[in-house]
Amino acid sequence: MKAGIVSVGTELLMGEVLDTNASYLASQLPLLGLDLQSIMVLPDNIESLAEAFGQAWRRFDVVLATGGLGPTQDDLTREATARVLGEEMSVSPELERDLRAMFAAMGREMPLSNIKQATLIPSARSIPNPRGTAPGWWVERDGRIMVAMPGPPAEMQRMWEAEVMPRLRAAVRREAVGVRTLKCLGSEGEVGEKAGPVFAMGNPALGIYAKPDGIHLRLIARAADDAGAAALLAAAESRLRECLGHQVWGTDADTLEGRAGALLAARQLTLATMESCTGGLLSAIITDVPGSSAYFKGGFISYTSEMKVSLGVDARLIASHGVVSAQVAEAMAIAARRRLGADIGLAVTGVAGPDPLEGKPPGLAYIGIAAPDGTRAVEGRYPPRRVDVKRLVVTHALHLLIQTVQAAPGGM
Ligand code: ATP
Repeated sequence: MKAGIVSVGTELLMGEVLDTNASYLASQLPLLGLDLQSIMVLPDNIESLAEAFGQAWRRFDVVLATGGLGPTQDDLTREATARVLGEEMSVSPELERDLRAMFAAMGREMPLSNIKQATLIPSARSIPNPRGTAPGWWVERDGRIMVAMPGPPAEMQRMWEAEVMPRLRAAVRREAVGVRTLKCLGSEGEVGEKAGPVFAMGNPALGIYAKPDGIHLRLIARAADDAGAAALLAAAESRLRECLGHQVWGTDADTLEGRAGALLAARQLTLATMESCTGGLLSAIITDVPGSSAYFKGGFISYTSEMKVSLGVDARLIASHGVVSAQVAEAMAIAARRRLGADIGLAVTGVAGPDPLEGKPPGLAYIGIAAPDGTRAVEGRYPPRRVDVKRLVVTHALHLLIQTVQAAPGGM
């Protein structure tokens, strides 16, 4: 079944308020097996609203609107819905009584303008809103459903979870939907190319998204029942794993640090770090994982060259290649590994910016890794915003760690 979302509010079009209601609802619709076709953002103008609602009502089986249910003259969602359906709005005595009781409970007189929040049309039933004064509308006619919910996200989300989602679940045709995300190393283009055969499968539908922690491949399978959807997902997942091999580092809610930790723990390997440009962020993120003391021995924040040298980095390497270099990153990784007697040493050195360092541009970094089977370093170039550089270097370092542990002989 096809669905459309309509977000109402001139402030959304002015860039003053971000349309988080639409993204929240969009994330919920796959759970109901609803196929979202469009998100529209509309001003508080009766002509625009009536035209767009009319279009949505004709095109979609389910239309979800948020906003425009307030008491003021520019809250026009009810009026536009009534106009599209050619129905008359009238005050519901029960809703009026509830509304007056709500104001009385707050010790306030109900302003006259609020009475329109107690109106209905013949095809609409009201949806309770314990967090605000505006009840929602559930409109059902000609096999179609339109739901109007309030704009404030807390009111909308509560109404969705407690009222709208359960009613929709009962009303829409039963179709099982399964969702699975695989998280990968690599670039969007390269991963997309390798995933080509799964694109061709059609069901599950495959979406590719570049995210801060890598490339996400999201599969959405539709079937008559849950077992059918699970089987479709399993087949597509194993095909993707064949195509991408060790580039797949995790699934669904996995994090880089969690996955790296799980790999280290499973293989009984220990880790030590030495950080320059990230100033401890790498170690902080590694230790976000409960139980990380099982594999993380500790780390050094060797911000100055003197400290790097005192920990075992050869001063001549710094003099000849510069402190931001592949050679120094490798030497730092070796030093961390040795100093703490760890199996793996992971080190980062880079120019966080905004100014260049030793003639090297901001955003340039090297990540070194020293493992039992050898040492190597990779270069990274990032957009030169200091805070972003630090986070991206950490992400890249965790990628390299996962890659190294996964690819090691006898890896998982
Ligand atoms: P109220 O009864 O509070 O007037 P309403 O249904 O009339 O509810 P609006 O007046 O359209 O809602 O919006 C109220 C506030 O809710 C906005 O100022 C904004 O902060 C927030 N809001 C509205 N729409 C959205 C949206 N699509 N995404 C996020 N926030 C929103």
